[in-house]
Amino acid sequence: MYRKIFTPNEQNSSIGIDMGGTVIKIGLVQAGKIIGFQSFPVVSKTIMPNLQHIEDVVDSLLVENNIHPSQLLGIGLASPGIVDPVRKTIIAINDKYEDAKEMDFSAWIKRNWDNVPFCMDNDARAATLGEWRYGAGKSYDNVVVVTIGTGIGTGVVIDGKPLYGKHFQAGSLGGHFVIDHKGRRCTCGNKGCVEALASSSFLAEIIRSDETLSCACRSQADTYDFNRLFALWREGDADAVAICNACMDVWAAGIVNYIHAYDPEVVILGGGVMQSADIIIPRLQERVDALAWCPSGKVRLTVSELGSNAAILGMEYKLLALNESL
Ligand SMILES: [Zn+2]
Repeated sequence: MYRKIFTPNEQNSSIGIDMGGTVIKIGLVQAGKIIGFQSFPVVSKTIMPNLQHIEDVVDSLLVENNIHPSQLLGIGLASPGIVDPVRKTIIAINDKYEDAKEMDFSAWIKRNWDNVPFCMDNDARAATLGEWRYGAGKSYDNVVVVTIGTGIGTGVVIDGKPLYGKHFQAGSLGGHFVIDHKGRRCTCGNKGCVEALASSSFLAEIIRSDETLSCACRSQADTYDFNRLFALWREGDADAVAICNACMDVWAAGIVNYIHAYDPEVVILGGGVMQSADIIIPRLQERVDALAWCPSGKVRLTVSELGSNAAILGMEYKLLALNESL
């Protein structure tokens, strides 16, 4: 489709793909701004049908904006799991895109868009790069970003450098910091991870197993999500208040661990649940201030500025950095 006639476009455009667990988002980006955007619900638990859908969306964004692939700064793919950004592969992924580990993403890019530069990263780290470069972290050199959604993703910048580590997993496994070593079994195999104790994917189980809640609430455990719970909080619903408080205790414990591990100046919180940031941020700040050991001063918690666009913009930052290094 992109092989139509294009008028030359001098702008540095890039494509950012955020392959979330439930929705895949694709943005055409120019200079830190999303100028074209499409999203679709994940079409399969396997990777290939989703990639085929992504191909069509990328091509339609390019055609609509009169951009030939050869004019692109590059294509950046943010994926859940542990991503090797050098070999451009997914090293490990749990519970999503089960066949993604065998996927040769570079070959897929080449097959569709010839020699367009390509980069990959973990989705939460990509969101961190976006917030650090363009959003709530842009005035800081030491940043932790926590994305609370289906799972809990984290990313870290220390002394102005994104954290990767020997096997590219440093900073990105905050959802699997252990809060209760005897706690609920997590999808990663460990017990009592932040994610297993307070994320959307475990919410029904969290509600069903809490004997302090009313029978009516526990019997309808499958019908709740965090947005509904925080809406009920505003109405003073006792069960919702108890569930939200228990989850905020877990998030606060996780954040205290991230502060102790990474020594950030700011912790930025994102994800759909931040629609209720007015309730969550002050309560988490209070808990964290009381629990974290920060003799040099309290660490500020704040809400994401880029919201669900953070990973797409973070991939633009990676492509710009890649371009500069060439
Ligand atoms: Zn875990």
